Amino acid sequence: MLHVVVVGGGPAGLVAATALAKGGVATTLIERAPGRARPCAGLATSRLVEALELPETLIGQRVEEAGVQAPSGRSAFVSLNQGEHYAFAIRREPLMALLRQRAEEAGVTMVTGTFLRFTHGEGDYPQLEYRDAQGELAAINAEVVVAADGAASRVAWAVGQARLPLAVAYQERFSAPADTPSVAAQAVFGRKVSADHYGYWLPQGDQVLAGVATEIKYGKRVWDGLAELKKRLGGSLEGAKALGREAFIYPIAVRPALTHDRVLFVGDAGGLTISATQDGLYHAVVSGRMAAETILAHQHLPVPEKLAEYGAAWAAAYAKLFAQHKKIESLFFHSDRRREALIDMAWDREAGRYAAESFLAKKPFAPPFQAAVRIKAKLTTQLIRYNMMNPKRLEGDTMVRQLPVASENYLELALKSRTGPLAPIAPAKAPDEPAPETTPDGPSLRQGVPGPTEP
Ligand SMILES: Cc1cc2nc3c(=O)[nH]c(=O)nc-3n(C[C@H](O)[C@H](O)[C@H](O)COP(=O)(O)OP(=O)(O)OC[C@H]3O[C@@H](n4cnc5c(N)ncnc54)[C@H](O)[C@@H]3O)c2cc1C
Repeated sequence: MLHVVVVGGGPAGLVAATALAKGGVATTLIERAPGRARPCAGLATSRLVEALELPETLIGQRVEEAGVQAPSGRSAFVSLNQGEHYAFAIRREPLMALLRQRAEEAGVTMVTGTFLRFTHGEGDYPQLEYRDAQGELAAINAEVVVAADGAASRVAWAVGQARLPLAVAYQERFSAPADTPSVAAQAVFGRKVSADHYGYWLPQGDQVLAGVATEIKYGKRVWDGLAELKKRLGGSLEGAKALGREAFIYPIAVRPALTHDRVLFVGDAGGLTISATQDGLYHAVVSGRMAAETILAHQHLPVPEKLAEYGAAWAAAYAKLFAQHKKIESLFFHSDRRREALIDMAWDREAGRYAAESFLAKKPFAPPFQAAVRIKAKLTTQLIRYNMMNPKRLEGDTMVRQLPVASENYLELALKSRTGPLAPIAPAKAPDEPAPETTPDGPSLRQGVPGPTEP
């Protein structure tokens, strides 16, 4: 019987391992820290519910609107409630517990250990060396390996693949102020918040998250960015109690090849997060499943050429969507003038609606022909206009008057319907505790990305 080893027990690894075991393949999953949930904002859509058949109890609070705020303070909101498609905030801990339970029930052999390197195994097959829970070196043979060990994948390093370019998201948790439930997520743009991405605000049941995302090279600036974000959120955090801070890395580019010999890269290890929206959960799940399906289809002859079909299947389904988001990033994320144009585009009813639909349904932005032509023309006009605009006008009142301005208090602004709070979780850290130098299993914000040294 084929033996597959999955390295990493995040959503991608757990879904891949469960599908493999259910398909009758002997599957071992090596995870270095089972039971520890890494930081994640948890914004998900109904596509994740379908992909995982999530129970109602995990769906929790709906996120009804997405707001984008320009450097000048103007905001535009788009609805994230489009009939069958909707968005919600999910807590990482119960999601991971459910996926682990499913993997165990499917018959996956769960090993606590840290993958270190490949050594020569029997015949042609690799042997994985890892450090077990007691700190001892151990080894296991595998005919096929699924690399699901996250953005700083050690498996990728071990097979000589280049390190992925990374961004870091640094976020603070607050208790949601009483009586002011929010169901609007916000992306706050401006070079003072983030040089190349944005700050964000997300309700999560009885908590709210305020965070800053930026490429790792600007990582040291996140402290100032977060302070600026809080200023820009106005009264939104009034009365909210700080619960803790957390940070983690995410990839900002897809790996050039999603397979290497008999190794298949899934989720963040494959670079499969849409960095413009930090949309990684869904893509971790679907890539994990696609990799498992490819292995199952070729379980009697799992040769590299056949396993490479996984990369082709992923590209056919999602490469266009990822490419569009990269284009959006390069068009809008790197100058305040262009960020202003982005808000005008979000304000455009049709453009906003189709963009929301693309995010919700995980499909490329594809308005009908006439709308596409009009949107393109408007985009070109706005980009030229903001490019030529006098800098004084960019920051002055004139801009603010051109479009309706959202209430400063987004908690008040948003919130009409909610489906009740999620179960409370224990606070991550004591209030006002200083930010950690190192994150649970991510990089130190000051030190940069962890190198491929033995953990
Ligand atoms: C702050 C932040 C906020 C985010 N918010 C959202 C959001 O709102 N919505 C969304 O969809 N996505 C979000 N994402 C992205 C999302 O969290 C990831 O894309 C997703 O978790 C990727 O899943 P994964 O299984 O590929 O990797 P991970 O979840 O990173 O799992 C990798 C696993 O591998 C294990 N591992 C690593 N190295 C080894 C080793 N050497 N040996 C054994 N085990 C190892 C780790 O312990 C970990 O459990 C966010 C990301 C960040 C950083």
